[in-house]
Amino acid sequence: MSLSFKDRIAFNYMIATALVIAVVFASVFFIVRATVLNNVDNDLTKEASRHLMEIQVVKGRVQFADEEEWEELEHHEISVNPMFIQVMDTKGNIVDHSPNLNGQKLDFDPSIPTRKHFTVGVNGRNLREVRLPIIRKDKIYGYLIAAVSLGPSLMVIDKLRNVLLISYPIILFGLFFVSRYLAGRSIVPVSTIRDTTDRITRYNLNERIPLPSNQDELHGLSTSINELLQRIEDAMQRERQFTSDASHELRTPLSVLRGTLEVLIRKPRTHEEYEAKVKESLAEIDRLTETMEQLLSLARSEDSLKLSQQINLSDAVQSILVLQAKEAKKKGIQTQFTNELKQEVKVPQENIQLIVGNLVGNAIKYSEPNTTVSISVRTENGRPIFEVKDEGIGIKEEDLKNIFNPFFRSGTMEHRHIAGNGLGLAIAQRAANAMHADITVSSKLGKGSTFTLILNS
Ligand code: ADP
Repeated sequence: MSLSFKDRIAFNYMIATALVIAVVFASVFFIVRATVLNNVDNDLTKEASRHLMEIQVVKGRVQFADEEEWEELEHHEISVNPMFIQVMDTKGNIVDHSPNLNGQKLDFDPSIPTRKHFTVGVNGRNLREVRLPIIRKDKIYGYLIAAVSLGPSLMVIDKLRNVLLISYPIILFGLFFVSRYLAGRSIVPVSTIRDTTDRITRYNLNERIPLPSNQDELHGLSTSINELLQRIEDAMQRERQFTSDASHELRTPLSVLRGTLEVLIRKPRTHEEYEAKVKESLAEIDRLTETMEQLLSLARSEDSLKLSQQINLSDAVQSILVLQAKEAKKKGIQTQFTNELKQEVKVPQENIQLIVGNLVGNAIKYSEPNTTVSISVRTENGRPIFEVKDEGIGIKEEDLKNIFNPFFRSGTMEHRHIAGNGLGLAIAQRAANAMHADITVSSKLGKGSTFTLILNS
């Protein structure tokens, strides 16, 4: 049986309450019953003791002291619930009994101890009985049996039982419907959350769940979902921006190429002119190829980067420096490498090549000619560090937070002659993330920049 959420809440609540009410009702019933019987027993003992005083023992036989008066009293006393009295000798023979017994006998069961109250059925009626011994000078001469009908008391107890039994299911049913209604009201925000999330598609990601007025768990859930939607919307926005930047970046060299070729076929040219235009076109093709490769590298999943082979950090840095030496030499830039590591630090080869290649490449690219680029590896607070410091053009403070975004370039107007597409640092950052490392930057415009890769020990 599959119950709705609100029915389940109501049902569970009803079960718990049913148990509590059952215990309370049972306690009430048994306490009332015990109290009523106790009252009957007290009255019975009191009456029996009173009659016991009216009995005397004459020559070993028990008899009423003033039989006539007793009988008269019995006849004239009007009682709602009359008491029955029977006097017996020790052998169990009836000596006397109250006239209201009308020839019936009260049970004499010697196995039941004297002064103990018990219930017996006589002619379909329930009687409460007690047997008191008639003792004179420490000798038992007989017994006085007193009994009273339990009818009225049992009627009260039965009525109470019926009321409890009938009200029990009625209370539970009422409780079920009330708690179902209340549960339904308290989960209204859940339905609102479901309706809103059902409505949201990639085209209306800006929609948000209305927050419930109470600052409760559902308010927290709605807030979390809204924050998640915000993150998804931001990611989609970044994706759109990336696609538009990427297509722009690919279209530009293609347009340049097309322009060059169109100019070339417009009229016959000299061999030198052809050679110059073809070289220009080849340079654009190189630019296009590099951008494509960088885009592919950015599109590679972090997981595939994680599988790369391990290599020693200082060896990796040195081999990249060898590759970049030609470019540095062309600009008259001196590269200084300091290795302060006391022991080997293993790093994933592909990641470190992407990071070091981009950071050192940028330091050379954005440095003024005849300056120095200092590269070092060391440990700080137990964490291995790779650092590149240049004396180049530096980065504007307000641009520092954006330089790791794909296609972002700082000061493009001022440094038009420096080629680039703004993908290198984004690739380096992604490679660092894949190895759980951080890249930080500090820079002063016109003075130089320092990029630091902080590895996890
Ligand atoms: P690209 O160099 O191809 O433009 P990057 O992602 O490598 O792309 O760098 C992004 C931007 O950060 C660069 O355009 C440049 O403005 C700035 N930048 C990066 N490294 C340096 C550096 N060492 N000195 C000055 N600016 C830098």
